[in-house]
Amino acid sequence: MTRIAIVTGAARGIGAATAIRLAKDGHAVAVLDLDEAACADTVTAITQAGGRAIAVGANVADSAAVDAAVARVVDELGAPTILVNNAGIIRDNMLFKMTEDDWDSVLGVHLRGAFLMSRAVQKHQVEANWGRIVNLSSTSALGNRGQANYSAAKAGMQGLTKTLAIELGRYGVTANAIAPGFIVSDMTRATAERMGLSFEDFVKHMAAEVPVGRAGTPDDIANSAAFFCSEDASFVSGQVLYVAGGPRA
Ligand code: NDP
Repeated sequence: MTRIAIVTGAARGIGAATAIRLAKDGHAVAVLDLDEAACADTVTAITQAGGRAIAVGANVADSAAVDAAVARVVDELGAPTILVNNAGIIRDNMLFKMTEDDWDSVLGVHLRGAFLMSRAVQKHQVEANWGRIVNLSSTSALGNRGQANYSAAKAGMQGLTKTLAIELGRYGVTANAIAPGFIVSDMTRATAERMGLSFEDFVKHMAAEVPVGRAGTPDDIANSAAFFCSEDASFVSGQVLYVAGGPRA
């Protein structure tokens, strides 16, 4: 069955792969990111493959922008019942150097963003008596040096997921979280740069720690998201799936 999906942070990386995968599974997809023009490649990939997609520019941490974005999706595609809260940023620093802005921006995009998007979309899910919410957590939720802000946000995503599962379950809505390990994307490319390493060396170094012996790809995460969004996953809710090539990164 065709559903209307919103994937946030879908201009690139994991979000783009997830949007493309959901479209392949037959859903119409709102490709949402900060900059609407940056969504063009993802939208084109979907439409060229015969799917249906629109680009939506919005800052997920801004409640007025979120409400306007969801209203646009309703107008242009229909009422959304699948939501993937993927938008994210990193502002890594050791605690003693971490600024309040580093803290607030990261918590704002990941946690406040997922809260605002879920609150706006659940109305349509409850009306449809069907829905899927997938939140992007991270292995960093278990703790990671230099990421006090990010690990707090990603652990918070797990708590949010479990509460959404409890509150929305009776309306046919499931909520699950994916906690990726090391995934090749612009985000990890930026980390390599910050550490003064070539991306190739960084990927090799990280892959050596992974039990399956390779770094993850955005498609690895998109595949798991597709399962959580499927009809088959209707009895799976409130779970955190570590997709990290091993039990944790
Ligand atoms: P990318 O940095 O490649 O993509 C993230 C996207 O989110 C960008 O297009 C970015 O836009 C967008 N975005 C940032 N802030 C906002 C905002 N306020 N509103 C809307 N969109 C926004 O990241 P990844 O694909 O690597 O990561 C996707 C998700 O997966 C994130 O939540 C990340 O924390 C999580 N994750 C990633 C891992 C990895 O190894 N890559 C590991 C574990 C979790 P812009 O470019 O304009 O900033």
